[in-house]
Amino acid sequence: MVLLFLLTLAGVSYLILGEMEKREQTRLAGADAQCRCGCGQAVSRDWLVCPSCAQLLRVSCAFCGRLKARLLRYCPHCGSDSGEGWA
Ligand SMILES: [Zn+2]
Ligand SMILES: [Zn+2]
Repeated sequence: MVLLFLLTLAGVSYLILGEMEKREQTRLAGADAQCRCGCGQAVSRDWLVCPSCAQLLRVSCAFCGRLKARLLRYCPHCGSDSGEGWA
């Protein structure tokens, strides 16, 4: 009876640990896909401003004038190189 209890406990901890590891891996993969503002805040390419430092994340392209994410070095509309960009 005690042995059964221990086995169940071991099984449950194994499952919990596996689940935690899986979550950790998902978290790391998600962080990789994200961009970071200059202040270190993880930001989405879709956001207009950084929620941490209010830095504008979208600017008009110097060449075609259309809005583009500051995170992107190359304008997705005209392909020009802005010379800056974080990703
Ligand atoms: Zn920021
Ligand atoms: Zn452009």
